[in-house]
Amino acid sequence: MALRLCVSGLPPLAPAANIPALKIPDFHGTGLDAAQAMADTELMDKLVSLAKRRGYVFQSSEIYGGAASVWDYGPLGVELKRNVKEAWWKSMVHERDDVEGLDAAILMHPRVWEASGHVENFTDPLVECLNCHRRFREDTLLSEQGAGDVAGLQCPSCGTRGKWTEPRQFNLMFKTFKGPAEDSAEIVYLRPETAQGIYVNFLNVQQSARQKVPFGIAQIGKAFRNEITPGNFTFRTLEFEQMEMQFFVKPGSDEEWFERWREKRLAWHREVIGLDPARIRYAPHEKLAHYASAAGDVEFFFGGSIGDEGWGEIEGIHNRTDYDLKRHQEYSGKRLEYIDPAANERYVPYIIETSAGADRVTLAVLANAYREEEVEGETRVVLGIKPTLAPIKTGVFPLVKKDGMPERAGQIHEALRARGIPSFYDESGAIGRRYRRQDEAGTPFGITIDGETMENGTVTVRERDTMTQARIGQDQVEAYLQERIR
Ligand code: ATP
Repeated sequence: MALRLCVSGLPPLAPAANIPALKIPDFHGTGLDAAQAMADTELMDKLVSLAKRRGYVFQSSEIYGGAASVWDYGPLGVELKRNVKEAWWKSMVHERDDVEGLDAAILMHPRVWEASGHVENFTDPLVECLNCHRRFREDTLLSEQGAGDVAGLQCPSCGTRGKWTEPRQFNLMFKTFKGPAEDSAEIVYLRPETAQGIYVNFLNVQQSARQKVPFGIAQIGKAFRNEITPGNFTFRTLEFEQMEMQFFVKPGSDEEWFERWREKRLAWHREVIGLDPARIRYAPHEKLAHYASAAGDVEFFFGGSIGDEGWGEIEGIHNRTDYDLKRHQEYSGKRLEYIDPAANERYVPYIIETSAGADRVTLAVLANAYREEEVEGETRVVLGIKPTLAPIKTGVFPLVKKDGMPERAGQIHEALRARGIPSFYDESGAIGRRYRRQDEAGTPFGITIDGETMENGTVTVRERDTMTQARIGQDQVEAYLQERIR
């Protein structure tokens, strides 16, 4: 049963019967459609500027001229990203009996990264321009410039052609030292993925949670990669958050589970996150990593210079076979087998991995939501974020700053906040301007308190996407919002 909005000291409210309920629209994003997004080559630039203006994302250390490829989430951005992560946790952990949560440490035993193959293989080929000494990824330059080897490459920074160092392999892991001595025995790495913390805890979780294979372990956490060519706003950064789930299955059932998770994850981006299905695609890998027997990416159409003509990976889905657990067995000397008491057998499980980036999904939500439209001769900028994910759920506006309206609006705002509904009170400026400010911030609803509220206890609710307004009883506000933001 929905809780009622209780505002103490209010006059009894008129029964709000006869007020028609608004239809809850199916939500698949209300930003530009795929064709419009593809046509708008400046979409990412507009988004970067809106993100700063409205407090979604700021450049790190801006007052010092900025730190390249690290970003800070502002008041609205931190809420949006939290909502994305919570939606993932709810779908992957809380709504399932067969997935457990984990929060493993960023720093791990250095042998972990030898076992995982990262010390040896987590590298990109690096070339340096002999003229300006800027460094680039050789493979990226070759594919961007359609060249066969470095001799044909032009430096994107200074324009010099064909003057490069020999390519050398550059490890993407950030290295640091544990304790006071900076010697090689004390090297530790900032983890480049969260997955390894899951593998080394496989038996701890399985036994303590009394799980049976097939089951999964999920975690959200920071990962760090010393990317050579970072950029494109928050798409490729040095520090980012991953939402990873490793699902342990019996060998032989792995292909079927890979398919199931592939379907599930694609559906999550469409249905839970509300990304436009026309801007999502699945791209199987042509070249497989050394540990994988099948792999592919969920890609979103961001536009601009991201990824493959605007299509960029937001999540990877991999069949990692028994590679990881077998390597950790070998390097740790500890058995990492599952004992199936019913079938009286033991085996090293195969692993299906779903690995999404919280920052890239958050960026996809913003890119998916952005649109501009002409309303009464003015440009309306709207972030059509799905109400469940929106940082602020409703604005609360007294129509004028007198006749008891600010007090009544303040009471409604306080009561909504007390019920856990993020609300924003705004009494400054013309009502149209206040609506527009919230449209741009992605707030899906606006409650206005006017003369009629003071007479009969009804308020207007305006929907961001349709701009339609309806009158509902003040006592219906909470139920109205709860139904739409769940
Ligand atoms: P890419 O090919 O774009 O470098 P990847 O294949 O190396 O990505 P994975 O190792 O599969 O990426 O990591 C899983 C997810 O983590 C990616 O789908 C992405 O959402 C996120 N991710 C990876 N690297 C970065 C980064 N440098 N910045 C932000 N997010 C990242």
